[in-house]
Formats: sequence, structure tokens, C-alpha cells
Amino acid sequence: MKKEIPYKIYLEEQEMPKQWYNVRADMKKKPAPLLNPETQKPVTLEELSGIFCQELAKQELDDTTPYFDIPEEIRDFYKMYRPSPLTRAYCLEKKLDTPAHIYYKFEGNNTSGSHKLNSAIAQAYYAKAQGLKGVTTETGAGQWGTALSMACAYLDLDCQVYMVKCSYEQKPFRREVMRTYGAKVTPSPSMNTQVGQRINKEFPGTTGSLGCAISEAVEAAVSQEGYRYVLGSVLAQVLLHQSVIGLETKAALDKYGIKADMIIGCAGGGSNLGGLISPFAGQMLKGEADYDIIAVEPASCPSLTRGVYAYDFCDTGKVCPLAKMYTLGSGFIPSANHAGGLRYHGMSSTVSELYAQGYLKARSVGQTEVFQAAQMFAKVEGILPAPESSHAIRVAIDEALKCRETGEEKNIVFGLTGTGYFDMVAYQKFNDGIMSDYVPSDEELQRSFAALPKVD
Ligand SMILES: *Cc1c(COP(=O)(O)O)cnc(C)c1O
Repeated sequence: MKKEIPYKIYLEEQEMPKQWYNVRADMKKKPAPLLNPETQKPVTLEELSGIFCQELAKQELDDTTPYFDIPEEIRDFYKMYRPSPLTRAYCLEKKLDTPAHIYYKFEGNNTSGSHKLNSAIAQAYYAKAQGLKGVTTETGAGQWGTALSMACAYLDLDCQVYMVKCSYEQKPFRREVMRTYGAKVTPSPSMNTQVGQRINKEFPGTTGSLGCAISEAVEAAVSQEGYRYVLGSVLAQVLLHQSVIGLETKAALDKYGIKADMIIGCAGGGSNLGGLISPFAGQMLKGEADYDIIAVEPASCPSLTRGVYAYDFCDTGKVCPLAKMYTLGSGFIPSANHAGGLRYHGMSSTVSELYAQGYLKARSVGQTEVFQAAQMFAKVEGILPAPESSHAIRVAIDEALKCRETGEEKNIVFGLTGTGYFDMVAYQKFNDGIMSDYVPSDEELQRSFAALPKVD
């Protein structure tokens, strides 16, 4: 008998995943290795362990082990806010008058307001287990810094956050949430680090960028005894931790006998998307099932749809390993008018390689249409979505509207990565009708590509 699908498809606590899934293990052609920028040879465990915690460096380099046990302490922490609900968007379907069935996996149900806590707790756990004093990181809009400060507070670790200066000044609330959890928040570029001093001197009055804050945080980690650097997206270890999203989604769908046709996620550095799609892409890689997977990115920062697939720097200061990825060039800075997040210049190597192999498609969308989708979703489903998440909402709505034309009853699943309560300046622009849709010109991108590192 067909089960009635409830609004909220909950898993029981005991149905939560006990292992993370490493999709790289099932890829015949693996993502290209990280390279040491000086020697251009694949980075070694020893080199990576100087920057990252030992266990995380191991996870980063391991592309053959399919499953990693989730330590019990992390599983206990997950239980405070997971399993996250998979919700049938009945009200949105009705509004769109579509025969499609729309489901969303909601990751905003914790104080950080996003999926980032899934990896923050894992990274803080391994730092603590190694006996470190603390961790350093960067944050742009502030979700990652908030998630990490929560995780560090829980485990009693010191947390130092370099926050992009314009966000530090424009988003005082995020900053204060981090400080409430005990993190030390420094506007970047600062005068605390050599790279910060250099950038301040070269570009006086600069309001910073994510790439620059990464360079500062890495320098702060390697120059303090007992500290390591942690990163909230892009890396393979982060995708591994975020696979909990996809594993729960798949378990919940399986429980109700639902087969997804289409899986949609927003893509900044690729961590939520990579985590959401991992088990599904794994089935595709093994020839067990087929899905339409769509990565959605902003038209103003279009790394998959208009970038090049090449080795590039992960940061402005060029201190991090080189990664092969779809990139706009590490010097690319999205237009200041761009309010919708997802501003990183590159894309996870794993997501990039899956894209290159044709396992997923990519689409870019303008920010006004993204906020229109956000508003429609908020009105009918109640949740005020993060602008980042709303990129996925836009494409889910577009696909559901196509089903209205064709009459197809597709099962559309999308990742609702977080809430938008701290993005009210962006919503204000939208509500005032002064949001603009900037799209970089080909010349602009070519200029940026010209500065890519030469790798033989
Ligand atoms: C950080 C963030 C993203 C984008 O990061 P990915 O690594 O691409 O997942 C998307 N949504 C929210 C709410 C975020 O905080």
C-alpha cells in the first residue's frame, strides 16, 4: 500500500547515519590532488598536518575509503539539532499548481542558521582530540564563523575568526553572536598578520575579501603553538561531513518509498551540494540509479557555468595548496551589488570533477529572480530562507512550473541550507526595488583567468 506522505518526513534518532560517506571512493577518475604551490607536487600528509588537524588532513587525502565512522561525541552533538526535517512543500506545490512533488531538506534549524554546523563540530572535535588549544578560520557573511564558535564553545576550544571587514562592519549581529559564544573576531585585513599588513599597504582602505581572510587565518594558525586552521567549505573533508545531509535525505525518502527524480542545491564552495548529492551521485557512479542533479550558482559569480577547469589558488595571499577546480580566478571579486552570498571564486574539486564527468548540471540565476523565489517560498512555506538557499528554491520552482506544462509528477528534492534573518539588508534592497543584477563581462573574466598559476 502507498504510504500517505506527511508534511514532515522525520527519521527517528536511531535512524541517523553512523558513518559519513566519501563519494570520491566510488569515482573511477578521482578529483585531482591538491598541489604544494612551491613544488607543484601533490601535498603530503606531513605538509597538510602543519595547517590542518592530523585526522582532518587524513580525511582530506583519502579518496579510497568509502565510509568513515562518525565519532560518538559528534553523533551526540548532532542529536541536538538532527535529524533535520525533510519537508513536503505541499503549500508551494498548491501555489504553483504543479503536479510535481517538491521536498526540501531544511538545515537552518540551529543557531548558526545553516548546514555549516555539521562540519564545524567535526572539525572542532578532531582539534580537541589532538590536544590543540584552538583553531583559526575566516568568515564572510558569518554563518561559518558562528557555526565554528558554537562548536568550539561546546568543546571548550579557543576560536579565532577573521571576518571580512565589510561584513564585520555591516553585520554587527553575526559578529556579536560569535563573541557571545566566546570567539575572538578580528576584521580582515588586519594588522595582526604579515599578509594582512601587506594587503592593507597595497590596497589602503580595502574592505577585504574571503580569499584575503583565509590567508590571514592560515598565517595565524601556523604562527601560534597549538593552533590549526579550519575551513567551512570547498575541501573534501567538509563534503565528507556534509554527507550527513544526503544520507539522511536518502534514508527518509527510502522510508516512504519515494524515488527522487531531481536533486537541486545551491553552490558556493560546493559543500552543502556535495553533501546532499553524495549518496545519490554514488549510486549513479555505481550504475544503480539515475538522477538529474542541478547545481545553482549566482550569475554574478558563475564558477561552474563560466569558469575554467584549472589549478588555482584557494586564497588571495596564495598560501594555501593549489586545487584543481572550476574557477573564476583567485583575484575575482564579485560585484559589490551582489547581496546573495555564494561569492567564492572556485568550487570544490570533488563537485568540479563530478561536473566535468557529466554527473551534474549547473545553472546560474540572477539575484532579483532569486529573491522573488525567496519571497514566494517565505509566504507559503513560512520559513524565511537564506539568500544562498534561495538559489536552489528558484530552480526548484522553475522545474515545478515546467512540470505544470508537461503534466509530469516529478519528485523534486532541494536543499534548504539555512535561514535569512541576518540578511535583511539584502531583503531590504529587494523590497525597495533597488536590487540590481550584475553579470560579469567576458573581458572581465578573461582578465581574471590570465592570472591563473601556470601548472605543468
Ligand atoms: C555557506 C552557505 C552556503 C554555501 O556554501 P556551500 O559550501 O556551497 O554549501 C549556502 N547556504 C548557506 C545558508 C550558507 O551559510
